[in-house]
Amino acid sequence: MHKKHAIIIGAGPAGLTAAYYLLKHTDIKPIVLEKENFVGGISRTMNFEGNRMDVGGHRFFSKDENILKLWNELLPAQGAPALDDKILGRESVLVDGGANPEEVDEVFLNRRRVSRIFYRRKFFSYPISLSLQTILNLGLVEMISIGASFLKAKFSQREEKTLEDFMVNRFGQKLYETFFRDYTTKVWGRTPQEIGADWGAQRIKGLSLGKTIVDFFKKTFGSKEGAGETSLIERFYYPKFGPGQLWEKLADEVKKLGGEVLLSSNVKSFHVDANKIIKSARVETAAGMLTFPADYFLSTMPLKELADALDDGLNLRQITIARGLPYRDFITVGLLVNKLKLKNLTKIKTLGDIVPDCWIYIQEPSVKLGRLQIFNNWSPYMVAAPENSVWLGLEYFCTEGDELWQMNSEDFINFAAKELTSIGIVDAEDVRSGVQVKVPKAYPAYFDTYENISELRGALDEIQNLYCIGRNGQHRYNNMDHSMLTAIAAVCAIAGKFSKADIWKINAEKNYHEEKKS
Ligand SMILES: Cc1cc2nc3c(=O)[nH]c(=O)nc-3n(C[C@H](O)[C@H](O)[C@H](O)COP(=O)(O)OP(=O)(O)OC[C@H]3O[C@@H](n4cnc5c(N)ncnc54)[C@H](O)[C@@H]3O)c2cc1C
Repeated sequence: MHKKHAIIIGAGPAGLTAAYYLLKHTDIKPIVLEKENFVGGISRTMNFEGNRMDVGGHRFFSKDENILKLWNELLPAQGAPALDDKILGRESVLVDGGANPEEVDEVFLNRRRVSRIFYRRKFFSYPISLSLQTILNLGLVEMISIGASFLKAKFSQREEKTLEDFMVNRFGQKLYETFFRDYTTKVWGRTPQEIGADWGAQRIKGLSLGKTIVDFFKKTFGSKEGAGETSLIERFYYPKFGPGQLWEKLADEVKKLGGEVLLSSNVKSFHVDANKIIKSARVETAAGMLTFPADYFLSTMPLKELADALDDGLNLRQITIARGLPYRDFITVGLLVNKLKLKNLTKIKTLGDIVPDCWIYIQEPSVKLGRLQIFNNWSPYMVAAPENSVWLGLEYFCTEGDELWQMNSEDFINFAAKELTSIGIVDAEDVRSGVQVKVPKAYPAYFDTYENISELRGALDEIQNLYCIGRNGQHRYNNMDHSMLTAIAAVCAIAGKFSKADIWKINAEKNYHEEKKS
């Protein structure tokens, strides 16, 4: 018999991990409430006509042994080549006794990461580097102009108030305008002039033209590394059917162990008593509004929405901080095409000889498209017919309520397809069908009231049985592994083995500096 209950808000990576750890390490029964009718949150996989779409392109990588162990407990590593590697005779990284993706579905593939920048109809390495290819693409005259503007910036450094100052000081005006200005604006919806310089200090570490030049000479005249395409290659794990497969499996495990995962259950408000203890959650369900009493509440819902739902738990100033937290939203269009117009000029063999990139950063200023996923290269099993069709994800960064967000789905798919043809990636007659997915609050942003977030965190911690975990649950740019780690830390805090305040410090080593020091 379970003595105590925990309500977990959200069946994304953090919520499901919290439920799993509660079941494995305590006698508390978790009830996961998910407002959507699927699990996985932002890391879900959706299915369109037999083609699976990862709404963000989720690489599985972690430096944490516990996370790697849990992932492998849920899905075993690959022990035999995947379909494409087998057909093409490509090398794969295999584990002795691992699962064969050609025979079973529950398997973690070990995939090769290739991603480049597409600009002026040409490919550049990502991050941008001073390679021979870059010089050939831009031309010697432009490279000389980039070099001259870099030297000018070195000798007349600007006072660093904005991100633009920060970037121009490090890269020079010309390179900044060519590669950074428009893309930053596309991603964040704010120009680098509107973003503080400290943001650059936190996120653009160790990258400068000076280092890039040294790197160029090392690569060109030094070791073999970088001379070919090896510098583009890294590996990552990926479930055979995309990230959602892992979260569906974890939800099944939670249910097997005695937890509950209730879909279409939207948590609307909490009753907080005078001692700052949450007594219950009010939840909108198909059966009407229901009340769920519990001993513990673990929240992965956006801080902005949590603050509004907390009844009398916060004061007006704290609620105002939460309401002012900014987000960047996201729209993905899945587009099924016969073939790409782009030619594969690399030495990497692929099915249908498509370009080998998992995703491509689109720097073309003429389009709003930000990134292009090629799901065939993530896992051939994501695509119904990987040898004669290409399954793409076109990613748009936007803000809820803006022009892109409001466009109806059919118009948006047509618009996205037109953008792709306009920059020469596909021919219009090769587009077969498409689907649109909106992802609100995909990116918690560090602007506006974020500088005061520590006040909000302190106030939330005072609510005795509330634990804020995950990405939007903490308003931190957490990846899946960090989101899971916050969940594990919360379970440890409930068990009295970790400090509740320290849950906010997970993934804070680099992000510490992301909080503005007033
Ligand atoms: C474009 C993009 C690419 C990414 N790529 C990577 C990557 O390559 N590798 C990586 O590790 N991570 C990546 N991430 C990050 C990853 O998606 C997140 O770290 C992870 O999904 C966060 O898990 P979570 O459980 O905290 O939140 P979420 O995934 O957001 O899940 C929260 C859940 O809570 C539910 N919810 C919210 N409010 C309520 C409510 N009131 N009641 C009930 N349910 C509610 C939501 O519906 C959702 O299902 C990427 C993210 C994006 C946007």
